[in-house]
Amino acid sequence: MTNYNFNTNCIHAGYKAEKGQPQVLPIVQNTTYRYYNAPDVAALFDLESDTFMYSRIGHPDEDALEKKFTALEGGTAAVAASSGMAAIFMAVTTICSAGDHILASPSIYGGTFNLFATTLKKFGIDVTFVDQTLSAEEIIAKAQPRTRLLFGEAIANPALHVLDFEKFSKVAKTLGVPLFIDNTLASPYLCRPIEHGADIVINSTTKWADGQATSMGGIVVEAGNFDWTKDGKYPEITEPDESYHGLKFYEKFGPAAFAMKLRVCALRDFGSCIAPLNSWLTFQNLQHLPARMRIHSDNALELARFLEAHDKVDWVYYPGLEGNENYELSKKYLPKGAGGVLSFAVKGGRTAGEKLLENLELTSIVVHVGDIRTSALHPASTTHRQLSEEDQIAAGIDPGLIRVSAGLEDIEDIKADFDQALNKL
Ligand code: PLP
Repeated sequence: MTNYNFNTNCIHAGYKAEKGQPQVLPIVQNTTYRYYNAPDVAALFDLESDTFMYSRIGHPDEDALEKKFTALEGGTAAVAASSGMAAIFMAVTTICSAGDHILASPSIYGGTFNLFATTLKKFGIDVTFVDQTLSAEEIIAKAQPRTRLLFGEAIANPALHVLDFEKFSKVAKTLGVPLFIDNTLASPYLCRPIEHGADIVINSTTKWADGQATSMGGIVVEAGNFDWTKDGKYPEITEPDESYHGLKFYEKFGPAAFAMKLRVCALRDFGSCIAPLNSWLTFQNLQHLPARMRIHSDNALELARFLEAHDKVDWVYYPGLEGNENYELSKKYLPKGAGGVLSFAVKGGRTAGEKLLENLELTSIVVHVGDIRTSALHPASTTHRQLSEEDQIAAGIDPGLIRVSAGLEDIEDIKADFDQALNKL
């Protein structure tokens, strides 16, 4: 039997010890692989062999991680990367070239927003940001003849908006383009975007997949059912590839064509490969993803409720809170929990927000989410400090906004830490 459920796949998918082999996936700290004749090496270059060539393109720990993640997201193939940003860049540029266009929600991670708004422009790829609360018809109206993909986040960081998958997959299908979803904040435990119409799913594994703040990493998973041949829009996938001695990826690899193209072209050319140790650590930590995600979500919800009732708190934003504008979407797409991140503002604006962070004792101030340790950040005085207060508000950053990533500590201790910090204001 191989058709296991999610928790079983977290533990068993990707590696199985044969007789006498280590029970735990070994770390293969190695760059290259020995062969005994030229035809065997040629078979590697012809992609006719499933053994390894060179660790920039793939290695045993990465392979195990990719197989586990493919099972967790319910896809056909995956390619890991050195970071979430590397995964996004490689995924997008696998099908977009100069002159092409992307439709994206602006409710996305700031790093991705920068990549889309400035860096991709330098390569001639244009991105239109379209408010994800608009109707399907209004979003479709923003498409251009060379729109190649639609991009959104399952739970947006830091806005915490929940994507309306039904609407977004309808838009993607109408336009005949793949739906790319960054699933980092939900993780495949809370949301499986492929089941809601996503064609390509990306995770920064640096966050909850690793979950212990030890390893940078990213991964791209292919759903395997997008028709790349329709309307001749994706010659990178369907036509002979000059950079790969005329290979037609779709013809040869079918439902894994996108992933294979990304591996042997983007990874080959950009070199943003994940290290063996980082693959191994992420692989180990994924084994307890379900247990962690349940506690992250429970703690975030309870902290959100506690803060909502606190008289020093101005407002709280958490999609799992009844009354939140995204509550219905979170019930529909995140039935197991609305994730580990919440945001709130204290009364007294930016100065009070900064002071609150200084008062926290258990909670760490870090530029990170998804750790087992509760962490917090005040974007107005850190990540967005270069902006004027006016520009911060325009960017959706309330001057008092505190972003919290709920850890796995006892919730009573987390609440007590925020309580004492708030009471000192
Ligand atoms: N996507 C989301 C939603 C993120 O929150 C982040 C980082 O915070 C990234 C992508 C980028 O991932 P990385 O830091 O691994 O490059």
